[in-house]
Amino acid sequence: ARNLVKRFGHPANWMRRSSLVHAVSDVSLAVARGETLAIVGESGCGKSTLGRLLLRLLNPTEGQVFFEGEEITALPPAQMRALRSRLQIIFQDPFASLNPRMSVRQILAEPIRLHRIETGSAVNDRVDELMRRVGLRADWADRYPHEFSGGQRQRIGIARALAGGPKLIVGDEPVSALDVSIQAQVINLLEGLKGDFGLTLVIVAHDLAVIRHMSDRVAVMYLGEIVELAEADALYEAPLHPYTAALLEAIPVSDPARRGERALLQGDVPSPTAPPSGCRFHTRCPHARPRCTSDHPVLETVEGGRQVACHFWREIQSAGVSAPVAGE
Ligand code: SF4
Ligand code: MG
Repeated sequence: ARNLVKRFGHPANWMRRSSLVHAVSDVSLAVARGETLAIVGESGCGKSTLGRLLLRLLNPTEGQVFFEGEEITALPPAQMRALRSRLQIIFQDPFASLNPRMSVRQILAEPIRLHRIETGSAVNDRVDELMRRVGLRADWADRYPHEFSGGQRQRIGIARALAGGPKLIVGDEPVSALDVSIQAQVINLLEGLKGDFGLTLVIVAHDLAVIRHMSDRVAVMYLGEIVELAEADALYEAPLHPYTAALLEAIPVSDPARRGERALLQGDVPSPTAPPSGCRFHTRCPHARPRCTSDHPVLETVEGGRQVACHFWREIQSAGVSAPVAGE
């Protein structure tokens, strides 16, 4: 993705510039084949929008999207449909995303037929196979979505994403609607399928804990911008951006004695219709200085190929402030 911008107009007053939602502002990133990239931030930071832009489920206001070296930003609908089987999404709410009037077999058969993966009776065999691959019994395919638990429905959502033979799957908070006890199972399933099917994954999440062990790299977004992008291990060990540090500190810790030490993120994310001037994080940043209110920090590449957008990250690091107390 190159210099992606997405603005949404409010339908009631689309002519007023001040009502535009700046969902994604000048985001560039590359996802390598076979990689798992996590996009993390609080709700309203633009991460779901970015995920949909990468799949071209949304068209960017500005900028370009490439897939396997080919620009797909302005691909005509017929060509985009042909590519759709390669670019798939798993939704946050597995119930809302499954048609309640269709059996699971019908839900899974649709993309198989549409993308001509199989025809005739081989479609049913393929459905059975997909059910087994996501850990469900093949004979359950004739049931309806409401007959399954939340975790099982998300497995069906994953099977549907797999049905057309995808290369890139974006999971939009794929486990955040599930019970904590089920989350790890679904994450493990995704990791296993990634290897088996040769997938590239982009996982959108609001919680750094959930995606810790499955991510190769993590992009942290705040108010439409990437503020830090790094290898997962490096990021969890030593976050460079104050916002990343705050998100890590928000991970629940089991030891009550350590809770007092943690500086939790204060306040809400400002409105994306009027992002703060200068550094967009300055209204909540514990390290903000006068320069931060006027001067917009750009995402720069620093040691180890990490990227960070903060004027003072070096000073903050060398002062040793806010060493993360990330819960395992
Ligand atoms: Fe905080 Fe300033 Fe860095 Fe923004 S630029 S994260 S306000 S120190
Ligand atoms: Mg979202």
